[in-house]
Amino acid sequence: MASGIRLNRFGVDTKLTSPTRPRCLPWASTSIGSMYATPGARNKATYASALDVPVKPTETSMSPLARLPTSSVLRSLFLSIFFTSPLLFRPGLAVFKAIATSELALLNPDRNPVLRAVIRPLVYDQFCAGRNVAEIKKTSSAIKQLGFSGVVLCYGKEVQLDANNKPYGYGEGQMLNLEDEVKQWQTGYLNTLKMVGPGDWLGVKLTGAGLNITKALLDGQSAPKEFVEAMEVVCRQAQSQGCRIWIDSEQQVLQKTIDEWTFDLMRRWNKGDKALVFNTVQAYLKCSRDKVEHQLQVAAKEGWRSAIKLVRGAYMSNDKRELIHDTKAETDACYDSIVEDLLHGTGFSAFQSSPELKHDLVLAGHNTKTIRRAASMASDLASRRQLKVVPEFGQLQGMADDIGCELLQLGENASRSAGSGMSFVPRVYKCLTWGSVRECMQYLTRRLVENRGAADRMQEGAVQLRQELWRRLSFRSS
Ligand SMILES: Cc1cc2nc3c(=O)[nH]c(=O)nc-3n(C[C@H](O)[C@H](O)[C@H](O)COP(=O)(O)OP(=O)(O)OC[C@H]3O[C@@H](n4cnc5c(N)ncnc54)[C@H](O)[C@@H]3O)c2cc1C
Repeated sequence: MASGIRLNRFGVDTKLTSPTRPRCLPWASTSIGSMYATPGARNKATYASALDVPVKPTETSMSPLARLPTSSVLRSLFLSIFFTSPLLFRPGLAVFKAIATSELALLNPDRNPVLRAVIRPLVYDQFCAGRNVAEIKKTSSAIKQLGFSGVVLCYGKEVQLDANNKPYGYGEGQMLNLEDEVKQWQTGYLNTLKMVGPGDWLGVKLTGAGLNITKALLDGQSAPKEFVEAMEVVCRQAQSQGCRIWIDSEQQVLQKTIDEWTFDLMRRWNKGDKALVFNTVQAYLKCSRDKVEHQLQVAAKEGWRSAIKLVRGAYMSNDKRELIHDTKAETDACYDSIVEDLLHGTGFSAFQSSPELKHDLVLAGHNTKTIRRAASMASDLASRRQLKVVPEFGQLQGMADDIGCELLQLGENASRSAGSGMSFVPRVYKCLTWGSVRECMQYLTRRLVENRGAADRMQEGAVQLRQELWRRLSFRSS
């Protein structure tokens, strides 16, 4: 952290939240400084462009959660009690898993209206976008009205492999031929694209293209021509709509080939000032820094724009343990050090050998400390015109609303201080998964497990939720 910066209790630079700063144009489109380092000088960033993002007015003294609807505050509070209570969570998760894996019509929430009436308002609505175009568009526009820059819409289909590299949940007879599988997948993504607008994202899981593609990934094959053609159609459509695409990282047995296929997509589509395709790097891997370095170097050498979504990694239970940092603290330190170096344009030799290198970065995660630190660092570097890349942020629907809203508030405060020089206005996206209640049960089970693993953070979030609820009940304005 640079000296001279004072952080408030949220870890945000007080210069940006000070109520004495001038305010302007609360409902107008607000200019966001987009900052890229000047060729040849990493410490002399210039502001290359301004992006217009509509923001909602929020009083600077307001709780970041003030923008959430009361139903959402109540549901988040209920779930935080559920996740942090072992007495409720263990039996609750067991029942949930039983429903998720059962073949019985009685336990199928798509067919049993009573079951659906319980799961839908309590869990599904919290974590999923909807079952059809109308529901998904409604969820997505509600999220944008809260001030988020857009949504990342994910088509839920995926394949996961067990310890013997056999796919979970697929019988022998379920394998279609490659052409049909890829065609179905392409149609799924083109339909997903119909539900997003300019500025939104498409979240792509390559294993979603089916068992044949998963096998090709596992065997380290080149991308089949059917897949290459399908991605060509999807990428062209996304680009014509003003959407971007991120390719999820998956299990390590598949990831080497996923990286290779994604590099081919980046080569093809990441020309010019804005990348279309983002690769995902998992910071829990001991080799994650090397992966970032490799991507930056290849991009510099071949003349395309590197684009990275940085996550901690979600496959600890499937991946080889020795590939992953030994402790959570090491994963945290690795994530934070990659962020620090990418924001400063230091630490990776590609920045020294190719000072003109430009790249894009999305920080996907819910770790409050990491996100606050990254936002604060970006604000500081931006104010000194030394920000190498403008980080964007992504959280999953229903998770980490406290930090998501805090980022929005930071951005709105920075937007209001127009005229004071260059400020960092974070772009924040919510990642949505869609499908019927039954189709989303596996995804929902993963969210429940992940939330339980973050029980400490949830307890901190619950305090803020209770304060927000109390504020509403006592009719206080802030
Ligand atoms: C928008 C979005 C997109 C995502 N896309 C992907 C994706 O494409 N691929 C993917 O794999 N994940 C993805 N994830 C999930 C992500 O990798 C994390 O699992 C999840 O976000 C929780 O981590 P966190 O950064 O929020 O913080 P935290 O909750 O603080 O961190 C939890 C993470 O720390 C790591 N960890 C926990 N215990 C240990 C330990 N003992 N030793 C070492 N490391 C440990 C694990 O990675 C664990 O998931 C995505 C998450 C988001 C929000």
